[in-house]
Amino acid sequence: MSPVEPVSNVFDTILVLDFGSQYSHLITRRLREYNVYAEMLPCTQKISELGWKPSGVILSGGPYSVYAEDAPHVDTAVFDLNVPILGICYGMQELAWLNGKQVGRGDKREYGPATLNVVDASSPLFKGVDHSVVWMSHGDKLHGLPAGYKVIATSQNSPYCGIVHESKPIWGIQFHPEVTHSTQGKTLLKNFAVDICQAKQNWTMENFIDTEIKRIRELVGPTAEVIGAVSGGVDSTVAAKLMTEAIGDRFHAILVDNGVLRLNEAEIVKKTLGEGLKINLTVVDAADEFLDKLKGVTDPERKRKIIGNTFIEVFEKEAAKIQPKDGEEIEFLLQGTLYPDVIESISFKGPSQTIKTHHNVGGLLEDMKLKLIEPLRELFKDEVRDLGELLGISHELVWRHPFPGPGIAIRVLGEVTREQVAIARKADHIYIEEIRKAGLYNKISQAFACLLPVKSVGVMGDQRTYEQVIALRAIETTDFMTADWFPFEHAFLKNVAARIVNEVDGVARVTYDITSKPPATVEWE
Ligand code: GLN
Repeated sequence: MSPVEPVSNVFDTILVLDFGSQYSHLITRRLREYNVYAEMLPCTQKISELGWKPSGVILSGGPYSVYAEDAPHVDTAVFDLNVPILGICYGMQELAWLNGKQVGRGDKREYGPATLNVVDASSPLFKGVDHSVVWMSHGDKLHGLPAGYKVIATSQNSPYCGIVHESKPIWGIQFHPEVTHSTQGKTLLKNFAVDICQAKQNWTMENFIDTEIKRIRELVGPTAEVIGAVSGGVDSTVAAKLMTEAIGDRFHAILVDNGVLRLNEAEIVKKTLGEGLKINLTVVDAADEFLDKLKGVTDPERKRKIIGNTFIEVFEKEAAKIQPKDGEEIEFLLQGTLYPDVIESISFKGPSQTIKTHHNVGGLLEDMKLKLIEPLRELFKDEVRDLGELLGISHELVWRHPFPGPGIAIRVLGEVTREQVAIARKADHIYIEEIRKAGLYNKISQAFACLLPVKSVGVMGDQRTYEQVIALRAIETTDFMTADWFPFEHAFLKNVAARIVNEVDGVARVTYDITSKPPATVEWE
């Protein structure tokens, strides 16, 4: 796309070729935990089109059988790179298939723990790994040794649990070192990357900042301007701060106040991003525009669509007002895409794979003829947080719970009116304040209050009341795919309920949501 050096050229990089295993991304993750940079690409990657030379290559597991007609195969040019190669499960079977085709269905499937028995104690791959528990997940197996290989480890069911080429640094293992069930799996991956591939352990956010700022400057050039939306969340703030460090006020941040942000949010963002972090920020008050369009709408999907479309309209209008100096045009749109989104879009899903596009910015890019700039696209979430702290963004902002794009509009069930938003906001504010006071904020992955448009009878000061209900939600999760509700102390809940009913007009009752995900989702709408 440009002459700008990819991150994989600056840092020693282990290339993970993905054959579609559900664990492939974990290989990348584990290596980075040892400060070794690793990047995942689909197994169909042409080596001649790579554009950089990896320090080593890992072939991942995958759902296919190597002997099947439509099975994916690696570009054999990978062997001409003359770098160490490690095949994991399908990856090992692929190595065997390419060297004698001795792979077939096993008599029984092997799924679960096994004990590793290292035959060759001098093998650098298994340093500190012998006799550990390793995780198996396969139905196929090697029926014999591939030509030129020898056995270096066995397990009770897998006589070819670990193999290595007699003269080349090509290794194969039947188990999955990347899952935590393999107790010394991380050590094995480190042995491969650091000792065998000799990759430098210099992947730190301190080093990334310098490289990335240099890259942004080269990409944007000396005069072009960049715009981007900020939301007050971690990703957009870190991306915006990084752009500001790189190109100063040629980066224009826009916060669209859609009327369904958290309490005082626009003010807070103005202070922390504009005044504090010195980001060139414009806050657009478009609350009326959004709320007028939401009038009478109760369907959650329609709410989301209206907010998404209105956002694009408002953003485009505002961008048109930004007049760069010297007749320069805005050329780039900043997007806080993270590595998990990239992985999701490139993961190998078989011959019929479809590449997912980023729908949220697609419209803007086309309408405004902008190029996309994504400085966080190599990073996992925790790396973004490290980066944020290094850039001087407050701990509180860096560890903020995620907040959905449609905001409070999907936390006010039913019709979204100014009055309803005000009630939901206040209740949410009290709830979060109490969570922080109790020191629980960082133990919880996400917490918020929902306003339910059902009326319920209460009694306050001897008067009968007939008002709405607030539902509190708090979840713990590592990946937001599954989640469990947070076990608050009863005294905590009692206090929050009392404060909300006392301080928020229009609320007579508070409930706590004790549904996990699945079957419920995190948000109510
Ligand atoms: N599909 C292959 C098998 O069943 C490989 C499995 C894997 O890579 N986890 O053996």
